[in-house]
Amino acid sequence: MLPLKDTLKHQGMRSHLVEELRRKGIKDEKVLAAIGAVPRHLFLDSSFEYHAYQNKAFPIGEGQTISHPYTVAFQTELLQVQPQQKVLEIGTGSGYQSCVLLYLGARLYTIERQRKLFMQAKNLIPKLISWPPAHIFFGDGYKGLPKEAPFDRILVTAGAPYVPNDLLAQVAIGGRLVIPVGNNIQVMTLYERVSEREFHKTTHGNFQFVPMLQEKN
Ligand code: SAH
Repeated sequence: MLPLKDTLKHQGMRSHLVEELRRKGIKDEKVLAAIGAVPRHLFLDSSFEYHAYQNKAFPIGEGQTISHPYTVAFQTELLQVQPQQKVLEIGTGSGYQSCVLLYLGARLYTIERQRKLFMQAKNLIPKLISWPPAHIFFGDGYKGLPKEAPFDRILVTAGAPYVPNDLLAQVAIGGRLVIPVGNNIQVMTLYERVSEREFHKTTHGNFQFVPMLQEKN
């Protein structure tokens, strides 16, 4: 069991990380405040505790990684979440990105396909942020959550070999889908839904994610 301790030292390391992200080009003050507030070290094994605030990806078990803080900040900035918006995250993983979205006031729905990571995140997330409550699902992110659609925002945090039609269909008109697309390297792609049939697509540089997988364990 993790002692959920957030010391002054952790807080100091977080403010350094925030300054580093600012230097790297993250501008949205709300996103920077969220990174400054969410205790990233609590999502990592305690042996990585003092590495938690370096701009690095780390193993979270089951062959998966928690994304780089820069990647989390970049995707969150691109998503432009407003308080109360209904947001779907694909790939709960450690739950770190989920907490950043909750901190921004999202009504969050998040899906993870690895049962162990799902169980851990379901236990940890409500201990760190209990309001608004997160809705955490075990399942296949390729399908999204049709029963809860439409979503104002959809964020995919694993590398998608293609853009799933089910996810495009679940974006509200006026909403946004942020998805890294590609096999070895992914292109950060933003789809803005203009109308029932039209999407405006833009690309935002290359990133590297663990792959979005098809079959469940
Ligand atoms: N947002 C996470 C990033 C974790 S890495 C964090 O902040 O820690 C990507 C995650 O996507 C992994 O946990 C992986 O198991 C999950 N994943 C991969 N394919 C998936 C799928 N088809 N549906 C749901 N989750 C998936």
